[in-house]
Amino acid sequence: MKRNFCLDIGGSFIKLGIGEGNDLEEIASAPTPSHYEAFLARTVETLLTGGLRPGDRLGISIAGSIDADNGSVHAAQLPFLAGVSFAGDLGTALAELLAEPMHDGIVVENDADCFAMAEAHFGAGRGFDNVFAVILGTGVGGAQVYRGQLLRGFGGTAGEWGHGPFIQKQDPSVPGFVPQFACACGQKGCINTIGGARGLEAMHAAAGNPLLDSRQIVDGWAGGDPACSATITAYVSVLSDALALTINITGAQIVPVGGGLSNASALLSAIDSEVRGKTLLARSKPLVIEGQTGQNGGLWGIHAQLLNEAQPA
Ligand SMILES: [Zn+2]
Repeated sequence: MKRNFCLDIGGSFIKLGIGEGNDLEEIASAPTPSHYEAFLARTVETLLTGGLRPGDRLGISIAGSIDADNGSVHAAQLPFLAGVSFAGDLGTALAELLAEPMHDGIVVENDADCFAMAEAHFGAGRGFDNVFAVILGTGVGGAQVYRGQLLRGFGGTAGEWGHGPFIQKQDPSVPGFVPQFACACGQKGCINTIGGARGLEAMHAAAGNPLLDSRQIVDGWAGGDPACSATITAYVSVLSDALALTINITGAQIVPVGGGLSNASALLSAIDSEVRGKTLLARSKPLVIEGQTGQNGGLWGIHAQLLNEAQPA
C-alpha cells in the first residue's frame, strides 16, 4: 500500500504526518522559516528525514488560497509565497535529491478545505452525506464536503461564507450594534471582519471598551460582565444569522467547527442554539459542534484527499 506523506503548513509550524488507510501518525514538526529559500529547504529536509520515496503520495494543506490557474499560494501568514510556484519548486528539488520525480505529483489544498475533508472522513462529520465545516480562527473560513468529495465551485470559492457585505449600516446607539468594518477582500461588513478572534476583539473595542483578547471577552461573558455580554450577544446574533442562511443554502446536515474559538464550548453552544432557531428545518440534535480532528485537521484532511484521489473514478 502506498504511504501518504501529509504536510500541514501554517504560519508557525510545518508538520509532517504519514497516513495509511484509516491511520495517520504525526512524525515531525518544525518552525516555519520566514524566507522562501529557507522555507523550501526546511520542507524538503522534513520530507526526506521522514523517509519520503518517489512512489509515495505527497499532499500539502496550506493556510492560504490556491490559484487554480498557476498553483501559486496567497497566504497572509506566508507572504513570501506570493508569485512563486511552491509545488513546482518543491517537485523539482525533490526530483533532484530522489533521482526521479514523485510518481503521483504533489497535491496542494487550502487548510479550510482540508479541515472539512478531515471532519467528513475522520471526525464529527462521519456518517453524514453533507458536511459544512466552519473555521472560527483569526478570521472566518468554511468548506463543504458532499458524499466524501470536496465542493470547489467557481475559482475554488465554494464554502466561503465569511465574505460578502452581510452586516448592514446600523445606529451605534441601538443595542446589538455591529460595526461595518472594511474586509481585506474589498467589501465592507463581511462576517470575516467580526467572526474570528481578531474580529470579536475589534467589535468589543469599537463599542468603547478597553482592549481585551477574545478569550478574555468570552470569559467575561461567561462570568456575567455586562460589556462582554453585550459584545457576545451581538456577535452570536449576527454570526448565527449568516450561518443559518448558509445552512439553508447548502442543506448541511452537520457543521463541525475548528479554529481557536471552537475550543470555547459555551460560546459554540450559544451559536448552535441560536442557529437552530433560525434554520428552515428544526433540528433536535446539536448542529454546530466542535470538530474532532483539532490541531491535526490539516494532516487528516490532506490524507483524506490523497485517499480520495487514489481511488479509480
Ligand atoms: Zn470579505
